[in-house]
Formats: sequence, structure tokens, C-alpha cells
Amino acid sequence: MKKTSKISQVRNIGIIAHIDAGKTTVTERILFYTGRSHKMGEVHDGEAVMDWMPDEQERGITITSAVTTCQWKGADIHIIDTPGHVDFTIEVERALRVLDGAVGVFCAVGGVEPQSETVWRQADKYRVPKIAFVNKLDRIGADFFGTVEQMQEKLHADPLILQLPVGQEDSFRGVIDLVHMKQIVWQDNTLGATFVVDEIPESERESAELHREHLLEKLAEVDDAIMEAYLSDAPGNLISPDQMLSAIRKATVSLKLTPVLCGSALKNKGIQPLLDAVVSFLPSPLDVPPVKGVHPETGETVAFPPDEKAPLSALIFKVAIMEGRKLSFVRIYSGRLVSGRDVYNPGRGIKEKPARILLMHANKKERIEEAGAGNIVGVVGLKESSTGETLCTKDHPVLLERIEFYEPVISVAVEPKTHSDQERLDQILDKFLMEDPTLRVQKDEETGQTLLSGMGELHLDVIISRMDREFNAHVNVGKPQVVYRESIESPAEASAVFDKEVGGQRHFGEVRLKLKPLPRGSGNHFTAAVSEETIPPAYVSVIEKAVMESFFSGVFMGYPVVDVEAVLIGGACKESLDSELAFTVSASMACKDALSRGNPFLLEPIMAVEVLVPEGYMGEVIGDLNARNGKIEAIRPKTGYQVIRAIVPLAHMFGYSTSLRSATQGRGTFTMHFSHFDRRQ
Ligand code: GDP
Ligand code: MG
Repeated sequence: MKKTSKISQVRNIGIIAHIDAGKTTVTERILFYTGRSHKMGEVHDGEAVMDWMPDEQERGITITSAVTTCQWKGADIHIIDTPGHVDFTIEVERALRVLDGAVGVFCAVGGVEPQSETVWRQADKYRVPKIAFVNKLDRIGADFFGTVEQMQEKLHADPLILQLPVGQEDSFRGVIDLVHMKQIVWQDNTLGATFVVDEIPESERESAELHREHLLEKLAEVDDAIMEAYLSDAPGNLISPDQMLSAIRKATVSLKLTPVLCGSALKNKGIQPLLDAVVSFLPSPLDVPPVKGVHPETGETVAFPPDEKAPLSALIFKVAIMEGRKLSFVRIYSGRLVSGRDVYNPGRGIKEKPARILLMHANKKERIEEAGAGNIVGVVGLKESSTGETLCTKDHPVLLERIEFYEPVISVAVEPKTHSDQERLDQILDKFLMEDPTLRVQKDEETGQTLLSGMGELHLDVIISRMDREFNAHVNVGKPQVVYRESIESPAEASAVFDKEVGGQRHFGEVRLKLKPLPRGSGNHFTAAVSEETIPPAYVSVIEKAVMESFFSGVFMGYPVVDVEAVLIGGACKESLDSELAFTVSASMACKDALSRGNPFLLEPIMAVEVLVPEGYMGEVIGDLNARNGKIEAIRPKTGYQVIRAIVPLAHMFGYSTSLRSATQGRGTFTMHFSHFDRRQ
């Protein structure tokens, strides 16, 4: 059976764009011309291959990270779907880690919209090389050069124009390739599958020469060989297209320049050169720094080279249920993944067996025997592993992602609308839990409500609407609430006795506990400081379990208890009367009693917020953050922008995107993630 291609021929890319710029249409055309999708789907027909989640079509945002593989001129291109919303910061960041390069799609009429600034900037942060595609040149009001200018102004990119549009609006028919100095015109009767490469017409000659001159000038600035040739007597003539292509590649991979191409995805123009550019300019997994992780025991940094012969390291970046089966999407950074051969999940300390390895084409899955470093594949058979977890070998363990960030901070109560929905709700939520480790589900025994907790409001919104559309489970939804924690201020002791007849038998157990506050972030601990005569070891573990379970829901307001040490300091049993039941009940009573004597208080989630503010809006944004009880930690300039880092209680962040938008005319963007818990003021 087949293996994956050579690593230098692999391109892992994402397409980043604001809503409506044409991301789905561009992807569709790519799949069509690479020969994998035989029917061209139009977005308005609801037939698009990538938009397989109904919810996405409705919202017009991309919330999955599925991957689609296609082949172009000997290269394997894996297209990773990048989520575009800030509430999914972890998903966005994970997607950006998994891809090596990106194509930014811009609408020639709308230009660079605020929404695309966020993802573009995040891609900058992760040092992801990019090329730009200015789309919709067929539309009235299309402005190619205006859009390029905005890339400079708003994204602070250094655009490198490689093509000029031929004709505009209605008469847009092709592009001039400034590297080969040819005109490319697409033929409408073949849905753009065929095109004519021709001499540049006289009318376009002058402008083409001028822009080629600009192109060479820019390349000369970053490439010594081009500089030399450029400065010699006959500029331009001495520089071959191949020499230019290799200089463009270097400048792109090192993030110095952003090549700009153009076309009209809807009218089937410009896609094949875009694919050429992906292969020619965007990095292969060999061109990016080796992935770094930590050793699960020592905490030391571990890095493996992107080499099939190195030890295995791979990241599960998405888990989905497809056709009733669990499918894990995996990026292999080093080593090989072989079907049937055990791998190790160091986060869980378990072995897993990839039963099938699949290349995920848009319209079919191709089974392969093994996949090597740099590739992205679907894997069937990973039973327990979940999103964000690492696969490696036991001899060379590495953790690629830190899991601690997954603190659910927002919850909503959901209640089925009808009794029949109740029966299915748990099953459906189990599926979601498997796909999404940032989701928590809890049952409130008293009210019968189910409590969903997650990373943000939109996160929970999407889950609730997917329940409705994909599974037809209708629920009433409560208002979103902050998920607090509880702890104690002072040490406290309490004892409790259970002495009752249950089921015709007397049960006896006595427990004395001392609780002590621990520093923030310590978690809960249990120690036993009693002799074996006082409490036999078998009952000590029963008591420990009961205490830890009591911590799930505190006495103050019912939130989970954190940062408390419980010490078993005394108790008693009575020969032949003691039982697990008696110790479970007395331990939990003693624990609750001690908690209420220890001056319990609430802890609230504090978020680390990073706001990007265009010059001129600083005052208002800072004022607003102060009004939200935020603490500004740092302000640093970044060409044309100021970056504000602040920590803000989550309870004060409701509605922040709206107020930031209105304070900055839509140009400010922010990301936030959980930082820590702190005492509620
Ligand atoms: P996405 O939200 O970025 O995925 O954008 P879509 O691919 O869904 O496109 C949004 C809308 O723009 C759809 O109605 C498309 O048919 C339309 N569209 C996409 N590309 C072009 C183009 O090149 N020209 C024109 N005129 N319309 C386009
Ligand atoms: Mg779309």
C-alpha cells in the first residue's frame, strides 16, 4: 500500500480570510483543478465540499479544523481549515501550529477587513509565511492596487506584486505574470480548466515593464544575487525566471515579503498560478524550525527534526465523529506513523494503536500503510486520545501542547424541550466531549438541568446550535454564567460520626479532618496523619475518595473547591461495625463542616487579554479596560499599532468585542485566554 510523498514535496497550508472574501470558493476551485472534486460546488447551492457542517454555512464562520489533501505538480497539498473567531483562540492557535504556510484571500472590493487582521496577526506571531490572493476582480468597484495598499497599511505586510489584472470588472479575463512576462487568459467554456499563455499585448506592455522593475527592485533589496544582476548593465535581462522564483521563495519563507496574486475564484480565473505559488513559495515541513515540546517527566525542552528517521512526534489537532466512527486528525512532525503499530500518548500514559491511516481527499478517503514526518492524515483506531494530545514513542516521550489552559470559565444550563430529547441529550453530549476537550458537562441532580462549561460564549453557542441542527435535540438555554471556584482562608478542623442502622445492620465510622489553605494553583491534596490502629489503610483510601468528591462542589456557592490540603488527623472504628458506607458519609460530612469553618470565599477566572489598537484610539481603549477592573501590564508599539497586555476578570469581559469595535471603528482586535484564578473583589 501507498505511503505519503517525500517531505520536501509536502505543503501544509491554511487559507485565511474574512467572511465572504471567497475562502470557500477558492478552496472549491483548488479541489476542482487538482482533479479531486469532479463537480464544482457553488457556495449558494450549499454544495461546497469543505463546508460540510450546516452550522458553518449558517454562521458564515469556519469552526472546524478538518483537512483536505490534493496533489499539484508532484506536491501533496494539505489544506487545513482555520477557524476565524477569537473565542476559539486555542483552535486558531493549534491550526496555525499545524500548518506551515498560509494563503490570505482578500476581496478586491472590500479590501482588508478588520476581521482578517486578527488571524493575519496571529499568523505573524507564529511566524507563518504567507502569500496573498486578491479575489473578486470581476466585481464592480474591484480595486487591486487599493487592496495591496491596505495590506501595507493595515497588516504591515510588505507586498510583492507578481501579477497584474488584465481587464477589470466585467471585462476581467486574466493576469500578466511579471516573472515570466507573459499574459494568461482563461477560457470560460472549460470552467477555467484551460488557459492561453501569450505575449503581453502592446497596450499593457508599459505598465508590465514598470511593475517588473518594482518587483526586481524589491527582490534586490533582500537577495544578493538579484542585487548583483540588477546593478549590472542590462537590468532585468540577466535575471532568469528561475532565479527570481528562488529569490521569492527565500523572501517568503523568511517572512520578508508577501507575494501577491490575483483573480476571480467565482469566474474560474487565477487559481492554477495560485497553486503554482503555493508549491513554489510556501515552505515544506523542512523549511520551518523543528517542533518543540517538553519531556513529560523532566519538563525539559525536547525537539525532534522533521525527519522520518527521528523518533515519532505527532499532534492530534482535531477529533471528529464521521460516519459513526471516531476519526483523529494528526500532524506528524517527526518519525513515522505506521498502521497497526503501537504509539504512546504521554499525556494519558497509555498505548494506542492506529488501525487505519487515511489521506483525507475532499470526496474520498485513501487508505495508506504509513505516513512520514511533515504529513497530515486522518487516523482511525485511537480510542481514548483526544484533541490537543501528543502521540510519540515510549522511549522518546514528548508533550507538544500544554493542556493546563483548558479551564472552562463560562457555563450555561440547558434543559431539553421535550422528554424525548432528554434521553438523547447525554449521548449527544458524549460525542461532543470526545471531539472537544475544552467542553465540560455536569448534571445538576436537584434541578435536573445539564450544565455545559466551555471557553467562551460563542464556543457554547456553537455547541448548542450543533445539537439542534445535527442531532435535532432542542434545548432551552439559560444565561451564560462565569464558572467560579471556592477556597478557604484559614485552617479549620471538624469531625463527624456516622452511626446508623442501614438495611438491618449497624454501620459506624468517625472521621476528624483538618483543612489548610494552599497557595493559588496548587490544586487539592490529601494526607493521612493517623495510625493504622485508629483507621485501617483500606478505609483511609475510602476517606480520601470521599473528601476529593466533596471538593467537586463547595459549601459556599456550590462551585468546585481548589487549593486546599486535607489532613486526616483522627477518627475511630468499632470492631465489626465499621464499613465503607460509614466512612464515606462521615468523611464527606466532616469535610463540608470544616470547609464552612475555614472562611470560604470565591475565586474568579482572570483572563490574559491582548488588545491590538491602531494609533489614535489608545485613550478610549485603556479607559474601557480600567472601567472593567483590568490591570494594564504592558504597552508596546508595533508598526502602526499599540499592543496592550492586560489581565481582566472574566465577569467584566462580557460584551467586550462590541465595545472594542465601537471604540476603534472596527479596527481594534483582541484575543484572550484563561490566566489564573484570583480572589473575587
Ligand atoms: P467565504 O465566506 O470566505 O468562505 O466566502 P465564499 O467563498 O463563501 O464567498 C462569498 C460570496 O462571494 C459567495 O456568494 C461567492 O459566490 C462570492 N464570490 C466568491 N468569489 C468570488 C469572485 O471571485 N467574484 C465574485 N463576483 N463573487 C465571488
Ligand atoms: Mg466559507
